[in-house]
This record gives sequence, C-alpha cells and structure tokens, in this order.
Amino acid sequence: MFSIMEDARLEALHLALDPGTGLKAVIAIHSTRLGPALGGCRYLAYPDERSAIRDAAQLAHSMSYKAALAGLPLGGGKSVIIRPPHLDNRGALFEAFGRFIESLKGRYITAVDSGTSSADMDCIAQHTQHVTSTTSEGDPSPHTAMGVFAGIRATALARLGSDDLEGLRVAIQGLGHVGYALAEQLQAAGAELLVSDLDAGRVRLAVEQLGAQPVASDALLASRCDILAPCGLGGILTAESVGQLRCSAVAGAANNQLASDAVADSLQARGILYAPDYVINAGGLIYVALRHKGASQVEITTHMTKISQRLAHIYAQAEADKRSPARIADAQAEAVLYG
Ligand code: NAD
Repeated sequence: MFSIMEDARLEALHLALDPGTGLKAVIAIHSTRLGPALGGCRYLAYPDERSAIRDAAQLAHSMSYKAALAGLPLGGGKSVIIRPPHLDNRGALFEAFGRFIESLKGRYITAVDSGTSSADMDCIAQHTQHVTSTTSEGDPSPHTAMGVFAGIRATALARLGSDDLEGLRVAIQGLGHVGYALAEQLQAAGAELLVSDLDAGRVRLAVEQLGAQPVASDALLASRCDILAPCGLGGILTAESVGQLRCSAVAGAANNQLASDAVADSLQARGILYAPDYVINAGGLIYVALRHKGASQVEITTHMTKISQRLAHIYAQAEADKRSPARIADAQAEAVLYG
C-alpha cells in the first residue's frame, strides 16, 4: 500500500468498506497544497483490489498536474468504487460513498467519471456538499470533449501546419461520454472518422449517425490516420503499442495514456506529437470547478479557451528544446506545484 503511495507521491489514501451496501471505495489524495483535491469517481470492475488502489493513486497524481496547469486553485484527488459482481441498490451504495466523502471534511471533492453519472452524484449530495456535476450542475463530459476538440485543432496546427480539420483522418478509441461527443464535433468539422469501442452498440451508432468507419478494438491503434484520439481507459501507449502507431499525433481525452514516462520519449523519437493528456482533457475539470463556485458560462468559456493556448505554448517549448511535450508539461506543472 505504501509503495503505491510513494510511487504516486500521494499525500493520503483513504479506504472505506460498508458491507450493508456493498461499498468498497478508495479516495486517493495527491495534494491539497493549492486547494481541496477535486477529481472524479470511477465505478468500475477491477481484476483485484490493488489495481483499484493503483488506478485511484495514479489518477490523483495527474489531477494535481491538471489543476495546476489549468490555473485552478485546487489539488488533485481521485476516487474509485469497486463495482461489485451483484448490486441490489445503486442509490444506497452512492449514498454510503457520500458519507465517506463527508468524513474527509472537504479535503476531497468528487465528480462524475467513468462508470458514474450525475444521478449518482445526486445520491452523494444527500450526505455531503463536496460533490460537483450533480444533475443541476451538469455532466462535465461535453466540456471535456469541447476542450479536446480545441486541443486537436491546436495539435493539427502544430504538427500538420493547419487547424482545418476538413478531410483529416481521426481514429477515436472509445465512444463513451467524451468520445462520442468528440466524434460529433469532428464529424461536423469535416473530419473522416475511424472508431472503435468494446460496446458494439456505440460503434453502430457512430456508423449510422456520423458515417464513421468501424475498426476492431485491437486494430485501431495501428490504423493509418492523422490523429489518434484515445478516449477509453489509460495505459494504452506502451513501448510495444507506440511501435505500431501510424499517426502523426496523439491527442485524446483518456487519462494517463502513457504507460510510463519513457513512452513519451519513444513517441518523440518516432516524430509523433503527443498532446499531454492532463492538459488537453482539462475542460471537464474547469467546468465542474468553476460551476461549483457559481461562475458564469462566459467565465467558464473564457477559461476553457486557455486549453488550446496552453497546448500551443507547450508544443512551441517542446520544439525549441527538442523534448517531448509530456516532459515540458510535467516540468511546468511541477513548477506550479512545488516551485
Ligand atoms: P466512458 O466510460 O463514458 O467511456 C469510455 C468508453 O471507452 C466506453 O464506451 C468503453 O467501452 C470504451 N473503451 C474502453 N476501453 C476500450 C478499448 N480498449 N477499446 C475501445 N473502446 C474502449 O468514459 P468517459 O467519461 O467518456 O471518459 C473517457 C476517458 O476520458 C477516461 O479515461 C476518463 O478518465 C477520461 N476523462 C473523462 C472526463 C469526463 O469529463 N468524462 C474528463 C477527463 C478525462
């Protein structure tokens, strides 16, 4: 347990067990130095408990970096509820999780993430105010997708010389809340879409509604395309998978896309421009953080435009230093966090 904390440089790790509702939950707090730790709650099945804890820890770490570079007065945290094989009452499970969050007295604020919805956040909100993205505040996913779309434009400009997406071939892995909304925006901008999802129904919808070309999940990464947009789960860019890529750039929503820091250098060596995930996917965090504080839509939109500006700045620095944009982003975030 402590080795996981050390690896992710966590400030604290909290576990909760509530046999009455079936709750087995982890809250990982990377840092509260800049403010309370805000990060989503995943509700997923994991192969074992250690994987769940490791997932929360690694995600909490990148949430700190995300908030730091998005200019938000927040720390980084993340939570995971391990999805039980059988569940009688989903509402009761999330209410129990709300009581767990309340026990941390505001050091952690939760939000929607993979496998959770605004309705789940409403259940949590019955027991704590430290929750965002309830049905009245709204799902952050469309805002994440908007930020990724703007980031893909900035990436196309930096790597291909134009931010016109007409005719650009974009391969999207994962058509969930973010991936599908991103696909809609890319299709409206004239991009040619290659798509995959483990859920065949999502793929069928994209084929029928957006004219997307379906690709088998295990073949998508090796598809010839201009931009690969990972929008499923993390860890998909490994030493092995990077060798198979046939794209000019990787720019997508998924958190923790790089299996290790060294993979960023392999991408750089292959001339593939990488959009640091926690920079390009910050739209949802910006939305929930500002909405929670009562900011206006204009303030939120103004803050969101900084995502593509930040990326362009990182790309320019990376070009000048001949280093991976991931290394540049990490250095900039660490200067804010620890400088
Ligand atoms: P989601 O659960 O709604 O969708 C994920 C989709 O990816 C699912 O449809 C799943 O079947 C598919 N998928 C998973 N692994 C796959 C694979 N190997 N190949 C093909 N498809 C695969 O999740 P989401 O909310 O859309 O988030 C997607 C990613 O973006 C996650 O990594 C999440 O942490 C990250 N993210 C989300 C937000 C947000 O606002 N929702 C914000 C920042 C980052």
